[in-house]
Amino acid sequence: MGSDYCRDCDGKMSCNNYHVYVIELDRAVLEEKPDFPYEGNFPNDKKIFYVGITKHRPECRYLQHTAERPENNEYPCNCFSESPTPRKFPKKVKYVHGFDLNLARISSINPIVRTDGPTFPGSAIEQENEAKNKETEMGEKLRKLGHAVYWN
Ligand SMILES: [Zn+2]
Ligand SMILES: [Zn+2]
Repeated sequence: MGSDYCRDCDGKMSCNNYHVYVIELDRAVLEEKPDFPYEGNFPNDKKIFYVGITKHRPECRYLQHTAERPENNEYPCNCFSESPTPRKFPKKVKYVHGFDLNLARISSINPIVRTDGPTFPGSAIEQENEAKNKETEMGEKLRKLGHAVYWN
């Protein structure tokens, strides 16, 4: 089945593996946030991206990045349970909020790291580190193509 963003997510719940996701940002971010990592004149035919990793459905993580935050700072998450569970919004990351254009469709590469294999001491950390490496790989790949890219 799969969703637009992951072969293994079913659109409602997360597959609970690590995903990499790519958010396209408005060009205004380069002017309004001068510390965005890009040197020189930005070509018209290139794009600006934020790259991240998550075990949530990428659509849910995108909502966390971009939705208006209500007073109780909670959003409904359906990723890890059948019924929507209220969760606190995570800390805002640099550059995304207010500059987001869309979530890129990259279902062919997700999930990037599986978490449903055998566990052993340190396996969760190992999976997280591997996911971070994939995030860096994706960021560097997009930079090589000439795009302006941020990840952390
Ligand atoms: Zn998934
Ligand atoms: Zn979620």
